[in-house]
Amino acid sequence: VPRAIIVHGGAGLYDASRVPRCREGCEAAARAGWAVLERGGAALDAVEEAVYALEDDPEFNAGYGAVLNRNGEVEVDAALMETGLTSPRLRAGGVGAVPWMRHPIRVARRVLEDGAHLLLVGEGALAFGHEHGLHPERSDNMVAPRARERWIRERAGSLPPSATGDTVGAVAFDGAGFVGAASSTGGISGKRPGRVGDSPIPGAGLYALADVGRAAAATATGHGESILRALMSKLAVDAMLAGATPDEAARVSVERMAALTGGTAGIVCVDALGRVGQSRNTPFMPWAAVVDGHLESGA
Ligand code: ASP
Repeated sequence: VPRAIIVHGGAGLYDASRVPRCREGCEAAARAGWAVLERGGAALDAVEEAVYALEDDPEFNAGYGAVLNRNGEVEVDAALMETGLTSPRLRAGGVGAVPWMRHPIRVARRVLEDGAHLLLVGEGALAFGHEHGLHPERSDNMVAPRARERWIRERAGSLPPSATGDTVGAVAFDGAGFVGAASSTGGISGKRPGRVGDSPIPGAGLYALADVGRAAAATATGHGESILRALMSKLAVDAMLAGATPDEAARVSVERMAALTGGTAGIVCVDALGRVGQSRNTPFMPWAAVVDGHLESGA
């Protein structure tokens, strides 16, 4: 069975001139995740490394490059989830509204490994991070020029507050029976401090589930409040476990989310047959996949 990973760089209204650059960033991240799978690493490690790479890329609304809230601060959400065909334990960990954290995916991973809780937010997540040697950045190291410019233009009213865009996520199948999902975001530009979106919430921003001989994972991006209402990643995973291909499941989950909420979003999916799929109802969603060593990308 082929190993596979697919990553996305956010569903939204991209400035078309940015698309090639964002596709490249996704390709680099998919390759970073694939390198883990290729050496026999776990799906969970592959999606963590892919998201880590995207958190470092200033093009994306995650880690360095995250959008600013209405106070001009960075607050990030991130999560991971894993399950397996032969070990259907649902492992998950996430963080929400963590100030100034460049790599919240690392904190989410510690939450998952620790296992006592599933989701830590704000100061509590920071304190947990400190205990594990994961510290926030100084604010002047965390505000990417593009994020600051966007914030200034939004405040001046010359740019409509854009609901969504540039969030990152990844799903993978490792050939050893495990599927993993990961997501990371600065959320929505101009959001209230303390706002947590779909990205760190299992069932909403990501999900992974196995059931008699099948396993699947998905991660969504777009208008968080709509994704949460529809439990969009759960919709996609359920569709795959019921026999849909990842592409079909992606399409069905976007359609259902839109019918239920009127929202805009996109999603990437993987199953334990090593197949990947993606769909969106936004103008763009840069993505890249490596299946059995072959790179593919789109937007
Ligand atoms: N879903 C993210 C959120 O609402 C935003 C995005 O995907 O761009 O926090």
